[in-house]
Amino acid sequence: MTPATKSFDVLAAYRQICERVAKAEHAAGRDPGSVTLVGAAKAQPIEGLRQLIDAGLAHVGENYWQDAAAHLPVDPAHRVAWHFIGPIQSNKTAAIAQHFDWVQSLDREKIAQRLSDQRPAGRPALNVLLQVNISQEDSKSGLRPDRVSAFATQVLDKPGLRLRGLMAIPAPGDSDAYPAMAALMNQLRALTPGVDTLSLGMSADLETAIAAGATMVRIGTALFGPRPQPSST
Ligand SMILES: *Cc1c(COP(=O)(O)O)cnc(C)c1O
Repeated sequence: MTPATKSFDVLAAYRQICERVAKAEHAAGRDPGSVTLVGAAKAQPIEGLRQLIDAGLAHVGENYWQDAAAHLPVDPAHRVAWHFIGPIQSNKTAAIAQHFDWVQSLDREKIAQRLSDQRPAGRPALNVLLQVNISQEDSKSGLRPDRVSAFATQVLDKPGLRLRGLMAIPAPGDSDAYPAMAALMNQLRALTPGVDTLSLGMSADLETAIAAGATMVRIGTALFGPRPQPSST
């Protein structure tokens, strides 16, 4: 049927995304470089990831431990900050605490405790963001917005973790989600002034997110190309 797709030009895509981020920063009156770009590498071939890291991509996001295990060898000198952005199973916390610099998808006390306990001695505390189910979708993980402060208080007690802020994946078309996340971020700052990171915005909504105050965007398809389908060859 369709011929094999020509390989996606990740370097051209990277330039375009950097431009989109820069424009959005400018439009929002934000400082150039104030938004961190995380490449969401889920299930992507390692070659594109290697090219992006060589080109300067400094933050990589992973949803699944199996993908991460395949991707981590691309960065033996640990030049990149690795972010875990997917649902976390208890039996993966030790590996995540060992290999990652950030966890953006924290929404359970038990997982927070395990990550804190399992963070290797001698490494800086693991940076964490609390995931908020801001569009209150039954199918999505994340905290209810009214649970954020109570959970933040628990996380602040864990010596292996450093609370940096919030993460969310708004439902498509939920324009209220962006100001709601900005408000939650202000609420969290009132509780603990050290938080500095709002991870909001993906390929389709990064401009909206940056306008609302996102300091971190997680970009998958617009950076790596369409996600590979289960192999048919
Ligand atoms: C896949 C994914 C992204 C990137 O989504 P795109 O729409 O492909 O840019 C960002 N964040 C999370 C948590 C994801 O799972």
